[in-house]
Amino acid sequence: QTSDEYDDISLKILVVGKLACGKTSIIQRFCHDEFQSKYKPTIGVDFHTKEMEVMNIKVILQLWDIAGQERFGHMTRVYFQNADGALVVFDATRVATFHGAKEWKDDIDDCFSKDALPTVLLANKSDLPQTTIPDDIEEFCEQNGFLNCFKTSAKDGTGITEALTDLVTKILKNH
Ligand code: GDP
Ligand code: MG
Repeated sequence: QTSDEYDDISLKILVVGKLACGKTSIIQRFCHDEFQSKYKPTIGVDFHTKEMEVMNIKVILQLWDIAGQERFGHMTRVYFQNADGALVVFDATRVATFHGAKEWKDDIDDCFSKDALPTVLLANKSDLPQTTIPDDIEEFCEQNGFLNCFKTSAKDGTGITEALTDLVTKILKNH
């Protein structure tokens, strides 16, 4: 492949997790540098794009915002098609959403083969004081095939670019 061909790499990244964990907010922060505190549930699926440079390669990221309730929808597999990577988000102030992260990872594994889709875990809302990150999170990531885990905040921007840089680096290395 010539370097010219690399100029137009476009990557489809799934953003999944339970309701109100901050999936839409993370995408808004990353793609448009905006944050809204008013909650507006996502209906169905939407995507936003943002250009990013990783390892001197320009990539166009397509972030797919998949509504939490879509986990039970028959369309999920259609949305998953041709994905290059995934962000699984949980809300670090609500432990139930951490269990949801495993359910979404299992769905991803069912759809692709096990651990075939590069996936990172995001512990979001890290700006809030009442967060609890499970002690065994690294072991959890290893056991469930997450490449890495990042503390993020869509509110103040913490960790989001770092997480996507890490994910994209891994995707490009497999390319
Ligand atoms: P989604 O259902 O996963 O798409 O969640 P949203 O992005 O709609 O966010 C749900 C609610 O949590 C909204 O009221 C957001 O303003 C809020 N929220 C999202 N991310 C953060 C964050 O990092 N910090 C704080 N403090 N609030 C957040
Ligand atoms: Mg949403």
